[in-house]
Amino acid sequence: MHELSLMEGLVQGIQEEALHQKFTRVHHVRLEVGRLAGVEVEALRFAFGPATEGTLMEGAHLEILERPGQGVCQACGQEVEVETRFDLCPVCGEGFVAITSGTELRVKDLDVD
Ligand SMILES: [Zn+2]
Repeated sequence: MHELSLMEGLVQGIQEEALHQKFTRVHHVRLEVGRLAGVEVEALRFAFGPATEGTLMEGAHLEILERPGQGVCQACGQEVEVETRFDLCPVCGEGFVAITSGTELRVKDLDVD
């Protein structure tokens, strides 16, 4: 499953961070997930258990902050919200939209000991 390997990657990143910053336990994880990241939030939630088993994050609370997709229309120049990377501008209906945000998948912050 795509989301499981993504989650394992995030967990690995946090474990490396733990070595540098010397924390041993994570209680709460906040992830930012853009609507255009190509990730299913429910699948990500489901992957959190197996991906964190036996790590310093086991049993931590996962919070997912969903971010809308946004971009700038290449025809009319409006800043618009889009559902997919390939949506045409909802304002003028003609322009391609250059995506400016909504593709992120990252750890926003952690509560740790
Ligand atoms: Zn437009």
